[in-house]
Amino acid sequence: MKALVYHGPDKKSWEEVPDPQLREPTDAIVQIDMTTICGTDLHILKGDVPAVTDGRILGHEGVGTVTEVGSAVNTLTEGDRVIVSCVSPCGSCSYCRAGLPAHCLDDEGASGIGWILGHLIDGTQAEAVRVPFADNSLHKLPEGVSDEAALMLSDILPTGFEIGVRNGRVKPGDVVAVVGAGPVGLSAIMTASLYGASRVIAIDLDDNRLEMAGKFGATDVVNSGGDGWMDDVIAMTDGLGVDTAIEAVGIPTTFDMCIDIIRPGGTVANVGVHGESVELALQDLWIKDIAITMGLVSATTTPMLLKLVAQGNLTPEEFVSHRFQLDDMIDAYDTFGRAAETKALKVAISR
Ligand code: NAD
Ligand code: ZN
Repeated sequence: MKALVYHGPDKKSWEEVPDPQLREPTDAIVQIDMTTICGTDLHILKGDVPAVTDGRILGHEGVGTVTEVGSAVNTLTEGDRVIVSCVSPCGSCSYCRAGLPAHCLDDEGASGIGWILGHLIDGTQAEAVRVPFADNSLHKLPEGVSDEAALMLSDILPTGFEIGVRNGRVKPGDVVAVVGAGPVGLSAIMTASLYGASRVIAIDLDDNRLEMAGKFGATDVVNSGGDGWMDDVIAMTDGLGVDTAIEAVGIPTTFDMCIDIIRPGGTVANVGVHGESVELALQDLWIKDIAITMGLVSATTTPMLLKLVAQGNLTPEEFVSHRFQLDDMIDAYDTFGRAAETKALKVAISR
């Protein structure tokens, strides 16, 4: 089969590789019908994720059809249409049982990280993939849910919801600010309404992203390129600041922006993956009763989000901005890698 293979920093190719085989009785083989590219894949290609080694097939998002199941797989059969989750939970270790499979202890690298596809084992940017713990890592698709909608449930929608909205303790009536309106920030914006936020303020430097934020549920948008951005945000609250600030970029500036606009008693939910250290002014913050949360997605809310998608309450398929065929994988990377120019949000890559 063909797959997108990582060959060290800045080196990748769409090349012929051996077909995946069942290894454990709990595995399934899934033919990929649609996959996509994540910002994390771009980080890997820059060499920022050293655990990913030469020869690894990338990708941790996908929708496909089960073609083979191991003898211990109970809930799936050949022909099932499924979402491939970015987390592959064993289901029985202490973290899985505590509802935090992001730290599954029985992943195949025994690394204590539930995200292994396209990271520690071969991933979904391929014609087929071997999925461990298939009963837990695959979600059967009900009729009527499109591949494009389902694809957003592998990673970005659960990430924005779990690490942004839910960790951010959004409550009915709250004013929520989301710094960074990329796919993850937009997912937080889309799901903040589930908890009854009264105002959702999208903050970004890119007017195209802000325009999309308005389409996906932001009540207000602020371009933080100008001097007055902070006053503009504070003026959208009762004057004390926002109840929840969600950081969805991953740089010190945007974390500081969240601290600048949070009200006493509020919550800053960090979603961004940071590559350098961020200063925390505890000497100023302790007296403000600020809670700061952070985390790696567990994707335990995928079944709940899937129900809302099936009912038409959430429409994440609208995140798809560009479409490609698997054989155009390199073009898809090029378009996604130049998002500011191409206005790419999520690329859908089909067989
Ligand atoms: P993205 O790069 O597509 O989007 C980031 C957005 O931030 C862009 O719209 C950009 O214009 C904006 N931005 C950049 N600098 C800014 C600044 N100084 N001020 C305001 N806006 C600014 O990223 P994404 O795919 O949406 O992911 C967002 C973050 O979430 C990344 O750091 C990613 O690695 C992380 N992530 C975390 C998890 C997790 O489990 N915690 C999972 C997936 C992704
Ligand atoms: Zn586990």
